[in-house]
Amino acid sequence: MELENCAALVTGGARGIGRGLAVALAAKGVDVLVADLVDDPSIAREAAETVRLVKSLGRDAVAVSCDVRREDETAAAVDAALARFGHLDIACANAGVIREGQVAGGSLADWTLTLDVNLTGAFLLARSAIPPMTARGRGIFLVTSSVAAYRGGVGYAAYCASKAGLLGFTRALATEVAPFGVRANALCPGYLATDMWFKDILPSLGAGDRDEQFAAVVRRAVPLGTSQTPADIGQAAVYLCEADSVTGIALSIDGGHLAGP
Ligand code: NAP
Repeated sequence: MELENCAALVTGGARGIGRGLAVALAAKGVDVLVADLVDDPSIAREAAETVRLVKSLGRDAVAVSCDVRREDETAAAVDAALARFGHLDIACANAGVIREGQVAGGSLADWTLTLDVNLTGAFLLARSAIPPMTARGRGIFLVTSSVAAYRGGVGYAAYCASKAGLLGFTRALATEVAPFGVRANALCPGYLATDMWFKDILPSLGAGDRDEQFAAVVRRAVPLGTSQTPADIGQAAVYLCEADSVTGIALSIDGGHLAGP
């Protein structure tokens, strides 16, 4: 798909990987609607920065409030994109959360939250984003899964289940929409120094310098020895959007993590 003058919607687009997707797409000529929990002032500031970066690349951008657990809000975000840009070519189900807790003794509320945001959030977005795409006979639905779709991790059953579920969802959706000229693919990032690691995962390792803790994790887990960046994931997203024959796949961007022992 030629990306010049396309329009995208990115959930969790305020920061981290979502910002990387927005900026990489904008650099290829895509207008972007940033959907995130912008009722929170700190997220609103981050979303404003993503909007600023997209606009600095000469594309249109706007931030809207969207909790992906709510179908009325995902539908409103899609409507806002259609109203602003006139069409929607790319929908990125990127919003995600992670909560630590073992299966035995862990919190049912954390399990439900993780599945609701990470998996059901993608389903709800697709319910509104897919019909305008199939009607026009063009478009792509991207999900941000994870290498955690393939690997277990003590304390992360809910997260791993949600990310593995996204791969099954993506494959099924790809077959459903292929007859209409619409595609669906998954991104599987490896290790990125976003808030998800620094605020949600590293604290469970105990006290210590967070940068050093993260660097140690990366040294252990990533054959190439470096973490990935939001720009790396954005580059992969651009490829998946442009590659007209590619649908139903999961593309790992992980420095060789899944290739290792
Ligand atoms: P992040 O910086 O924490 O970004 C996640 C974004 O999603 C935040 O802006 C967050 O807002 C938003 N979000 C959370 N719940 C939401 C909801 N109910 N509705 C709408 N937005 C919501 O983390 P990230 O690393 O960029 O993560 C982005 C995606 O990449 C996630 O799906 C994550 O699982 C995946 N991923 C990350 C890594 C990594 O190493 N970082 C690796 C593989 C996959 P709040 O801050 O308000 O919650």
